[in-house]
Amino acid sequence: MNKIGFIGLGTMGAPMVRNLLKKGYQLTVYNRNTAKTNEFQGQSQVQVAASPAEVVQLSEVVITMLANDQAIEEVYFGSEGIMQGVTKEGSPTRIVIDSSTISPGLSMRIAATLAEANVDFLDAPVTGSEPQAIEGSLTFLVGGKSETLAACTELLLAMGKKTVHMGKSGSGSNAKLANNTLGAINLLAVAESIRMVQESGGDPLLFLEAVAGGGARSGMAEIKGPKMLELDFSPKFSVKLQHKDLGLAVQLVKTLGLETPMLQAAIRQFQAALEQGFAEEDVSAVYKLYK
Ligand code: NAP
Repeated sequence: MNKIGFIGLGTMGAPMVRNLLKKGYQLTVYNRNTAKTNEFQGQSQVQVAASPAEVVQLSEVVITMLANDQAIEEVYFGSEGIMQGVTKEGSPTRIVIDSSTISPGLSMRIAATLAEANVDFLDAPVTGSEPQAIEGSLTFLVGGKSETLAACTELLLAMGKKTVHMGKSGSGSNAKLANNTLGAINLLAVAESIRMVQESGGDPLLFLEAVAGGGARSGMAEIKGPKMLELDFSPKFSVKLQHKDLGLAVQLVKTLGLETPMLQAAIRQFQAALEQGFAEEDVSAVYKLYK
């Protein structure tokens, strides 16, 4: 499978496409805002399509990397969408992979609808942020058939370092929401503990150094802690997207009948961050809530 379609050239999608090009794949790309396709126009390996349906017409495997459920609804089920493309006679697309963070219910609906057109689907959201997308070290949490994943592993590893098969359709999306719940709670704990040290007159940099040596160490303390101290909130993963993911996690636990007091506290804090106008800033901007 060498002809790959890619839809969604945002913070994550654009570097993922660059990595596929480096590995020699032939790509057809689409983005709603056409300005984001400019860097790929005129490259011999890339064709720019005018719609998701056109991407499908030119690709054996199609990957989507889109903002949220609404974007997915439009790109898959809208006019000139993926579903319209796969049902056209002679469509070459055999597999569709979605790497966006969306509700597991929507992942399962897409899998079922594509199956009617004999197209396999993987929900394959990622852990890692823009730096990992750039260096090609994302981890894919995959739901769907193991044989479909096997057929796509080389392709996914052109953009990442690892695939983890979580189980049937929707289980990749379920795991991703659990992952982002863990990340958000951890991030808030980092912000709170840094503020405790600062307010008690301690050196927060030394604190982070000490944390790194013990059981409280975490990726959030390591990556976002220094960003908080530098007041660098340039977006790698935005407050808006994290709030969206926590909202999806709240819906998921509701259907499971599971009590999650930490998740509920975390979404309240991210709601406060939105209300303070931090939507487009990096998640590390939650630090400012504690000033
Ligand atoms: P982003 O930079 O905001 O890009 C979003 C993409 O979705 C853009 O291509 C955008 O097109 C497209 N889009 C939005 N609404 C649309 C609609 N209604 N119809 C068609 N296209 C639409 O987001 P990102 O940071 O790349 O994240 C993409 C996904 O990965 C999200 O689900 C996010 O939660 C997840 N994720 C992000 C990170 C991260 O660190 N950023 C990490 C892991 C997972 P336009 O250019 O036209 O707006």
